[in-house]
Order: sequence, then C-alpha cells, then structure tokens
Amino acid sequence: MKHDVIIIGAGPVGLLLALLLGQRGLNVLVLEQRTELPQQSQAIGITPPSLEILATVGLAQSFVQSGVCIRDCFVHGHTGRLGGVSFRDIAGAHRFILSLPQRQTMRLLEEALMQQPTVKLMRGIECAALSSQADGVIVRTAEAEFHAAFVVACDGAHSRVRELLGIRTRRREYGCQFVMGDFIDRTAMQDDAHLFFTAAGAVESFPLPEGQRRWIVQTNDETDLVPQVRQRTGMLLNAADQLNASAFSPWRLDCERLHLGHVLLCGDAAHVMSPIGGQGMNTGFADAEFAAAMLHAILRHGENAERWFKQYEHCRQTAARTAARRAEWGMGLGVWRGVMRSLLRDFIIRSILRSDHVPPWFAMQSLPFNRYQP
Ligand SMILES: Cc1cc2nc3c(=O)[nH]c(=O)nc-3n(C[C@H](O)[C@H](O)[C@H](O)COP(=O)(O)OP(=O)(O)OC[C@H]3O[C@@H](n4cnc5c(N)ncnc54)[C@H](O)[C@@H]3O)c2cc1C
Repeated sequence: MKHDVIIIGAGPVGLLLALLLGQRGLNVLVLEQRTELPQQSQAIGITPPSLEILATVGLAQSFVQSGVCIRDCFVHGHTGRLGGVSFRDIAGAHRFILSLPQRQTMRLLEEALMQQPTVKLMRGIECAALSSQADGVIVRTAEAEFHAAFVVACDGAHSRVRELLGIRTRRREYGCQFVMGDFIDRTAMQDDAHLFFTAAGAVESFPLPEGQRRWIVQTNDETDLVPQVRQRTGMLLNAADQLNASAFSPWRLDCERLHLGHVLLCGDAAHVMSPIGGQGMNTGFADAEFAAAMLHAILRHGENAERWFKQYEHCRQTAARTAARRAEWGMGLGVWRGVMRSLLRDFIIRSILRSDHVPPWFAMQSLPFNRYQP
C-alpha cells in the first residue's frame, strides 16, 4: 500500500504533524523507533502561537487544563529585583506561556492521533534506509519496506534521515552547561516564573503541574543543584523533594537545506537551538503547521511541490535562525560572571524590561513566520 506521507519519528513534532495531516484526510504512517514515550524531562514551555495551532486540532483546552498558565515572570539581578515580564496584556486568546512536561504533551497528542482513522502509528520500528522513486520514496526498516509519496523526517536533533540524505549541517557548541531538576514545590512562587542573573551564574525556576517546580542552574561543576540554588538565590530547597535530575550542554545546528527530492525535514531534524528560551519544540510545531498545509495542497490540489518546498525552506529557516539567535542572546547574558559584569547586566536588563516589545518577544509572537499564512 502506498501512503500519502510517512513520518519518521513520533516526538512532539511528528505527532502534531500526523494529527494535522490526518485532520485533512491524508493517509499517514508514523514510524517510531521507541516502544514507549520517553521518560526524560525536556520541553515545558508552550507559547501562544503553538496553542493557536493546537486549537486548530481541538486540543488547546485539554492542554491548558493539564498545564500551568505562567502569566508573570520576575527577573532578579545582583542588585535585587530588576523587573518583570507580564503576558497578561499580549494579543490573542492565550495570554500566558503554558507549562506542561513534554511527556504529557506527547501523551495528549498521541491520544488524539488514535482517533484519526487515516493515521497509523507503528512503534518499535526504526527507519534504516530510504530510496527515491519516480513517484515517491521507499522507507526501509529491518523487516519491511513502506512506500509513500512524501516522507517527513521528524527524527530529532541527531536525524538519521538527514544523514542518509547527505544534507550538510553547521554545528556550534556554546561551551556552557546546565543542571536541571524537578522538585515538589514548597516555595511561595505559585504560578510565576523567576529568572535569577547572579554573579555566580544564572538560575531559572518554572512552575509545573501537580505542585512541582523546575529549577535550572548554569554551572560548569558537577555539583548538586540544591546548594547552588541556595547560594545564588537564597531559596532553600530540600534534596528529598527532588524528583529527577539531568544536565545539558546547549548547542546549535543549522541545515544547509530542509528538503531533498520528496523528503522534508521538520522540528529538531531541521534546526537545533539552545533550550534556554524554550523555543525548539514551538518552532517545530510551526514547521508542522506549514508542512501539513503544504503537503495537502500538493497531494490533494496538485500544486507544484518544488515551489512549495522552497517557500517552506525560506520561512522555516528564517524562523529557526531568528529563534536560535534570540536564545543565544539570552543565554549569553546569563553566563556573565563577576560583580562588575553583573552590575552592567542589571543595567541592561532593567532598560530592556521597560520595553513593550519584551512580552511578545518571549511569547514568540514577534518571531517571523511564527504561524503559517496562506
Ligand atoms: C532540557 C531541555 C529543555 C527544553 N525546553 C523546551 C521548552 O521549554 N520549549 C520548547 O519549545 N523546546 C524546548 N526544548 C527543545 C525540545 O525538547 C525539542 O525541540 C523537541 O523535543 C523536538 O521535537 P522533535 O519531535 O522534533 O524531536 P524529538 O523530540 O527528538 O523526537 C524525535 C523522535 O524520532 C525518533 N527517531 C529518531 N530516529 C529514528 C529512526 N531512525 N526511526 C524511527 N524513529 C526515530 C526518536 O525516538 C524520537 O521519538 C528543550 C530541550 C531540552 C534538551
């Protein structure tokens, strides 16, 4: 059987794309190498443009009910509280950033996908090779072959499909490290986010559903998070309340191109940016929205694929590169150490926070091509 589209990878971006294509009646096969949802904790921040996309598949309400709405973010520096970012007055129906662990995002998307009669998700199946045909692409796994008019690689930052296509990439390491942990929240911070820019390094703190809170500390030591949070912010966390721990070193990856033949890259397969700023998955969701509209126009209305693919590449690369630069900028300020640099940073941040452009900037509303425009 020939599918309209095969999606490689059922991460958040692959799942959303499958849902958007299924809603348009396309016949879709999703191949995922994992047998179940991943345990590790990654994305939590879902921005208003992404909630608008989720609303088109009837999911915005269930997402909001499952998460925490962050309406205010307070920023602290060496000289005390520097100001805040309030999302209460931004444009649109969703005047907050939604905090929801990535695993729950994926669970909600997968549950909705199960209701789509034209979409099939196969777990425990790894794409091993691809070959181009005149009328589409053959995807090879260890045990079978699958045929589709188009293939979309949603297989993440270390994309095998991207490698198989020989698409050239540019990778940049930032040389800084972060440790992260989710805790039972016994602070009085409620649903607010707090960013601490201190002379010893940055600390970020975000509310999570079910009375939990995430702490992220920029550090080049392997030491525990609890003493570092205490030293930098004065907040007393209890090690016994820590539910998980992980570390990450941000890096960036740009692809020379986002398509080859009948294969398209989407999400982290197409661009990797620093998680500081919380934009990677949201940028991938906008890729998925564009890709779904485009593949529908090509497959059901016979529109020119090459012309569409060029436009996709232009829009999605522009959005991703802008988001990556913004993340770099925020992260760069956070890694300044020492008292003199901290005083200068406090001055800069105080001035920036006075601008009305800051809330839409954090909410990704001012990112170019944050939504697909027909
Ligand atoms: C610590 C951290 C915090 C973050 N916080 C945020 C945030 O708050 N907001 C935000 O927007 N982003 C955030 N991000 C980024 C976000 O996690 C990623 O952008 C997002 O996971 C990308 O989704 P994806 O579906 O493109 O790729 P992935 O989530 O990597 O999914 C790819 C899927 O493809 C599968 N796969 C891979 N190879 C194959 C193959 N050959 N065959 C079959 N299946 C395959 C994998 O098993 C996986 O399930 C964060 C990242 C980190 C590390």
